[in-house]
Amino acid sequence: MSTELLYLDDSYLKEFDARVVDVVDNGVILDRTAFYPGGGGQPPDTGKLIFDGKESRVVEMRREGVVHLLDGPLPEIGTEVHGIIDWERRHRIMRAHTAVHVVSGVAYQKFGVIITGNQLYEARARLDLSFENMNRELAERIIEESNSVIKRDLPVRWYYISREEFLKRPELMRVNPRLYEKYERIRVVEIVGFDIQADGGTHVKHLAEIGEIKLEKYESKGRKNKRIYITLS
Ligand SMILES: [Zn+2]
Repeated sequence: MSTELLYLDDSYLKEFDARVVDVVDNGVILDRTAFYPGGGGQPPDTGKLIFDGKESRVVEMRREGVVHLLDGPLPEIGTEVHGIIDWERRHRIMRAHTAVHVVSGVAYQKFGVIITGNQLYEARARLDLSFENMNRELAERIIEESNSVIKRDLPVRWYYISREEFLKRPELMRVNPRLYEKYERIRVVEIVGFDIQADGGTHVKHLAEIGEIKLEKYESKGRKNKRIYITLS
């Protein structure tokens, strides 16, 4: 039985109750969780589990099996726990995640620049771009344009579509489509009226929550491969 991933529907869930269904090494698997287990460039959540008057830090997550790795006492199978995620950290990561959608949407729609990878941090992100004529000035224009999209404060929604519909809409596949072959339903994240893509991460509900994007660093990694770092204020 796999863990019910509560953050998929409610990305703003900070606390939840669950039951331990398995103990693995120094970690636990729960029947349900709000902890993001990592993946797609989004780091796993940290936080704590409270049970039987005790408390353990969730210091790391193992994506495979959705294991909460603990620093502190280990609850037994069947124990009821109360989970609390480090919300301020998570929210800064959600802002960065949504900012990356805006930047990659602008880069692609306006300039034909493909984002080949990203890594999210707290209110900060790294984007890898593939574009021969990329330069710092163009990167600055992409960020400027991204900030004007944020000012429109568009709503962000997430929901599921069928695999059949997904396969008819190649624009939703930003990564290897094979990753989605095993799913009956595909979760998509839509910045309404601007961008839509298949995505399993957590995002803010309104673009204004992102704040302002600043270009922190521009690096050339070769003829076509460029890298930018953005920070949010
Ligand atoms: Zn995303």
